[in-house]
Amino acid sequence: FMLGAFLLSSIGARLFGAMGRLRIQEASLARVDALLRLPDLPLLEGVAADGDSIRFEKVGFSYGRDFVLENIDLEIEAGQKIALVGPSGAGKSTLARLLLRFFDPDTGRVTLGGRDIRSFSQPVLAERFAAMFQDNFLFSQTIRANIAIGRPGASDAEIAEAARLSRADDFIRALPAGYDTVLHRGEGLSGGQKQRIAIARAFLKNAPILVLDEAAAYLDPDGQYEIQAALNALATGRTVIAIAHRLSSVRHFDRIVYLEGGRITECGSHDALIALDGAYARQWRSHAAARSFTLRNAGTV
Ligand code: ATP
Repeated sequence: FMLGAFLLSSIGARLFGAMGRLRIQEASLARVDALLRLPDLPLLEGVAADGDSIRFEKVGFSYGRDFVLENIDLEIEAGQKIALVGPSGAGKSTLARLLLRFFDPDTGRVTLGGRDIRSFSQPVLAERFAAMFQDNFLFSQTIRANIAIGRPGASDAEIAEAARLSRADDFIRALPAGYDTVLHRGEGLSGGQKQRIAIARAFLKNAPILVLDEAAAYLDPDGQYEIQAALNALATGRTVIAIAHRLSSVRHFDRIVYLEGGRITECGSHDALIALDGAYARQWRSHAAARSFTLRNAGTV
């Protein structure tokens, strides 16, 4: 039940004591395996189909004491792009965890294609999702093997194609050992390069639903454009549920879901929420002010 919390949110994981963390790390590795490694499955087209519509129905969840999500009703049609925004501790990561079944709701249910996600076998459910979080797990194996986790048995050509789509192919080829470079826990690669390897893995997996913690895209300010471009390409034709910290990157999403205190307090397009002039509009204004301050200080404005 407690599986995977460590993988999903380093912030959440920090809340655990050292002992708890060890237990969770152990348990989460099994879960990482289940999420990332798939038996031979037919190649999915990456295009979300009707069966991939997601619904949260009156979902409530608590980690043991108070409810951290309450009465969540949310419908995500196949192919839609949804951003989860809101203050720290609002419940954004928890919502993503429930979708991936790292935890199950205490009340209500989550459905995929109208079916309670608890009724799917784990491999069938895992096949539908690719998850990308701040802690992208790179194993001490070759770059090729790290990408191939997305689809065991993939050919070298497929791996290179996934790397090309994620804009990782160039830098990988420039390494002396290329795809055979052994990663020692990712040492020697920039945050952005690691990120693009993780994106390549997700391309290879080709799942229709992408759950992503956008904070990952912060890792490397220099490579941010490349990462954003790779993520945009990955998002095409898929359902995307993104925990967003940089509001500008999700401005054009179909819907922005504003969470506060475990409840959805605002929900709509960027323009609709700006017109509403509530908490999202306030966050947008302070975000815009911070951005123009940075640009001015950088001498570009
Ligand atoms: P952030 O933007 O800071 O990542 P968030 O909106 O993603 O925040 P969550 O991580 O979902 O928020 O946390 C919601 C609430 O649940 C917070 O009060 C948090 O302290 C608590 N919480 C999160 N993970 C755990 C956990 N594993 N055990 C106990 N409480 C947790």
